[in-house]
Amino acid sequence: MRVFKFGGASVKDAEGIKNVYDVLQKVGYEDVLLVVSAMGKTTNALETVIKNYFDKSAELNSSVQEVKKYHNQILMDLFEEEKHEVFTAVNNQFSDLEYFLAHNKSPNYNFVYDQIVSYGELISTTILSHFMSFMGIKTQWLDVRNFIKTDATYRDAEVDWELTQKNIAKNVKRKILNITQGFLGSDENNFTTTLGREGSDYTAAIFAYCLNAESVTIWKDVPGVMNADPRYFENASLLNQISYREAIELAFYGATVIHPKTLQPLQKKEIPLFVKSFINPLLPGTRVAKGADLEPYLPCFIVKRNQLLISLSSIDFSFIMEEHISEIFALFHQFKIKVNLIQNSAISFSVCVEDKFENFKDLNAILSKKFKVDFDENVTLYTIRHFNDKAAQTVEKNKVVLLKQVSRETMQIITKES
Ligand code: ASP
Ligand code: MG
Repeated sequence: MRVFKFGGASVKDAEGIKNVYDVLQKVGYEDVLLVVSAMGKTTNALETVIKNYFDKSAELNSSVQEVKKYHNQILMDLFEEEKHEVFTAVNNQFSDLEYFLAHNKSPNYNFVYDQIVSYGELISTTILSHFMSFMGIKTQWLDVRNFIKTDATYRDAEVDWELTQKNIAKNVKRKILNITQGFLGSDENNFTTTLGREGSDYTAAIFAYCLNAESVTIWKDVPGVMNADPRYFENASLLNQISYREAIELAFYGATVIHPKTLQPLQKKEIPLFVKSFINPLLPGTRVAKGADLEPYLPCFIVKRNQLLISLSSIDFSFIMEEHISEIFALFHQFKIKVNLIQNSAISFSVCVEDKFENFKDLNAILSKKFKVDFDENVTLYTIRHFNDKAAQTVEKNKVVLLKQVSRETMQIITKES
């Protein structure tokens, strides 16, 4: 069996869905499981619905209508004939969502989030599977919540592998096209859970692992895994093959093509992962598989913007590493600030962090009582795997370098645009 994952961008409109059909025609669809995300930016739109719900905003209804309108347009473009049963099926899902909004009693934000956001994937797969049947492909729609069982950590659920394995082995049919939702699971009480934003790649890997699949393919709007983001670097080139290890390293440093959790289950069973273009599906793309010989020979560039470089020095000359490090890290953790790089000297300590939730001001108030705190906002962290002089020069050109750290395979440079 092969597992294919189509993300939101690949099914953002009727054209995209027709293109999925074309891809399947070209690469085959028998014995395939499709894992599909919510269409386009639907997950973000549903996050707005959730926010409006909790804010008791007057916009709640209109934000739901917007999601409805968007999907309705896609349905009209795909089916023309409004009598097709898919219209009722999708309508019923919106009714379920509205019923939940009207009757829910739980004040638990994360729980409510998962119950609402899941409609994105439920609706996208409903539309897709009806369309594939309509085009003559024998299709089975699977509710992923009957397969992937998780704990009750809403928005970041942990997979129960034993139960999941059992469900998948028993109930996924071979020889036809199976279509299911990415990102979702369910807990012991059958409430919907999610695996974390962008989690659909991980869903594909979970199914592949449990099915002993022959491969996983992630279909993207880029030709495969590139050695740099073409938006920021001229001459970005495709990596033909890379090892699982390299892929994990790239994902860890912030390359966004593959969700970091995806690789572990695949690597355990040595299931190859392909990243391919849904525009040119017959091109080879990138193959991620076992073996050191697959290391890329090209330097790989990863850029993280909007970082904060903080330097802390002890006021009383006490040693930072021995006496304060665990306390400092506990604070970063408490304020949900993600540390991306560390450098220390005897009495000072620098960290490059990401302050997604804008908590640094509060943290700084606490830190400043004990340490001398200096910081630069809005810096950029460049990571170069397999660096060489030329690669470093490319990054440093026309920029002020604030900090540089080099290990055997990896160079990290923090810059401020000048
Ligand atoms: N739809 C979810 C998200 O946008 C999951 C995914 O796309 O992988 O985060
Ligand atoms: Mg998405």
